[in-house]
Amino acid sequence: MELVDITQQADRVTTVFANGTKADGDLLAGADGLHSGVRAHAFAAPEPHYSGYVAWRGIIEEQALPPVARELLDSYGFFLPPREMVLSYCSPAPMTTTARGDVA
Ligand SMILES: Cc1cc2nc3c(=O)[nH]c(=O)nc-3n(C[C@H](O)[C@H](O)[C@H](O)COP(=O)(O)OP(=O)(O)OC[C@H]3O[C@@H](n4cnc5c(N)ncnc54)[C@H](O)[C@@H]3O)c2cc1C
Repeated sequence: MELVDITQQADRVTTVFANGTKADGDLLAGADGLHSGVRAHAFAAPEPHYSGYVAWRGIIEEQALPPVARELLDSYGFFLPPREMVLSYCSPAPMTTTARGDVA
């Protein structure tokens, strides 16, 4: 359901959803992401804005790694050249175990 409004009483908080449903409780936990309406309601903070970063993501199969790169498989590696950040880590292949050498 889409949250559209929040009202705060002295000891309760009430949420209102687009379909007309209301829910109230002692505490509201906002987990509504980067452009959180809950955060905007609770804090007069500015909206996030683009800071100029670009992120590139890529996945390479373990078997295709050169031997020198396989030495990094047990690491969560950070590389910090000037004005850049590179990080590398293992992620499980779809529908397989996370065992070393296991491929899709
Ligand atoms: C491309 C990319 C790659 C990432 N990679 C990683 C990673 O490798 N490791 C890592 O730790 N983090 C990663 N992150 C960051 C991570 O995804 C976020 O920090 C995390 O998902 C934030 O969780 P959240 O619950 O606050 O918000 P979200 O996951 O954004 O969830 C917010 C939810 O609230 C819902 N919502 C929004 N507004 C309303 C509303 N008004 N009413 C009802 N529902 C609403 C949305 O539909 C969404 O389902 C990545 C992010 C991106 C964009």
